[in-house]
Amino acid sequence: MSKNTGSDLSKRVRNIPQGTSVESFLIHGRHFTEKWDFRHHIIPPQSSSVTYRLDKTERGARGFQEYASGDAHKNKPIYIYDRLDEPTRGMLEDELAGFEGGDFCVAFSTGMAAISAALGVLLNSGDELVAHKTLYGCTYSLLTNWYPRLNIKANLVDLRSIDALKESITDKTRAVYFESPVNPTLEMIDIEAVRRVVDEVNKKRAEDRQLYIVVDNTFATPFCQRPIELGAHVVVHSLTKNIGGYGTDMGGAVIGPHDLEGQVLLYRKDFGGALAPKSAWPILVYGLPTLPLRLKRQMETSYEVARYLEGHPMVARVVYPGLENYPQRALAKKQMRSPDGSFTPGNMIYFETVEENAAEPENNIKVVDWIAKHAYTMTLAVSLGQLRTLIENPGAMTHAAVPAEKRIEGGIAPNGVRISIGVESAEDIIRDFEKAFEQAK
Ligand SMILES: *Cc1c(COP(=O)(O)O)cnc(C)c1O
Repeated sequence: MSKNTGSDLSKRVRNIPQGTSVESFLIHGRHFTEKWDFRHHIIPPQSSSVTYRLDKTERGARGFQEYASGDAHKNKPIYIYDRLDEPTRGMLEDELAGFEGGDFCVAFSTGMAAISAALGVLLNSGDELVAHKTLYGCTYSLLTNWYPRLNIKANLVDLRSIDALKESITDKTRAVYFESPVNPTLEMIDIEAVRRVVDEVNKKRAEDRQLYIVVDNTFATPFCQRPIELGAHVVVHSLTKNIGGYGTDMGGAVIGPHDLEGQVLLYRKDFGGALAPKSAWPILVYGLPTLPLRLKRQMETSYEVARYLEGHPMVARVVYPGLENYPQRALAKKQMRSPDGSFTPGNMIYFETVEENAAEPENNIKVVDWIAKHAYTMTLAVSLGQLRTLIENPGAMTHAAVPAEKRIEGGIAPNGVRISIGVESAEDIIRDFEKAFEQAK
């Protein structure tokens, strides 16, 4: 069972009172950095300066040397240039590292930039990674379209099977990568079980050949699940989704152990893709402080909507980790816990419509198209984790990059629908569904 990290938080994050809850921490944070004191601002300021005045040549030279050596984090460099380090983004990174329970956080312009960086520092040409067979569409494309060009091989297997994991690890494997819950099908991977396998492998490996577990925690957010506590080495996020929360800005984050910090900073410096401070600011000021409130509301609504869908004759199957009949119920209850220990199954629902011919899903299209045109509370759009309830057909949209036969293999059915529940009332969402199903009959 996930432990209460309220008290752990004050051990990880300096200068906050012992026992501080995550809710209070995300509102009050530490609105200054060791490099720039902002503590008299109630709202952390939005810095907007590409370059920084240096007092003398020696200071600038030292900063660049520290970056080039990958040791920037050890020496607390002074600010030189936005892409290297910058205070508003730095405050966001500080809070995210504390929240996830990692040693550091480096923020990127998008989730995909963060995923590319996390895997980019771990993998060299000739290496391999093992990943779950169902992945966010662009991650799937990164692994299958781009990595072969770099001579990096991705073994895509069903990581719900620990035997499949064991069999797919070779001497060349450097990373195990997965989402949990998986986008869009919401199955789960047992992080503790994966860690036990990886520990066995690492015992026999040299220090510089260690195998790392990287978890995309976008669906759950650290409010609902903290993979590092469960055994992951690195967590990646799309901040564009629930953490940002309002659908106004894109962002990504890599959170991990000290030994990778210098490399991830160097990667960001040289590949670019740093999070703009103008986008870090709303995530820090609006997104994080309201995340627990939004998610609590979204989870109550998600349960009601999932229960409604479960009882509807036009729905063949509903997957929501909070439902009693969720196939991996015990694992969900172990992994998905808020920092105070409550069961937090998130705000994502997946369902399949009843069809005569599932390969040509007529009902699905009628329902989704009616929603697109006429629903008041639901919007046909990709992305997730906003105030508005968003609905999409993953096979045709977010996961279109996955070849059709691989989609079927990965459980992304043509008649599937993914819903990201917003903060509207459950009754209003259900009323829209009622009408959508009625006209499709
Ligand atoms: C959206 C998403 C991403 C990519 O994030 P961007 O910010 O759009 O680049 C990665 N993983 C998951 C699970 C996502 O839902």
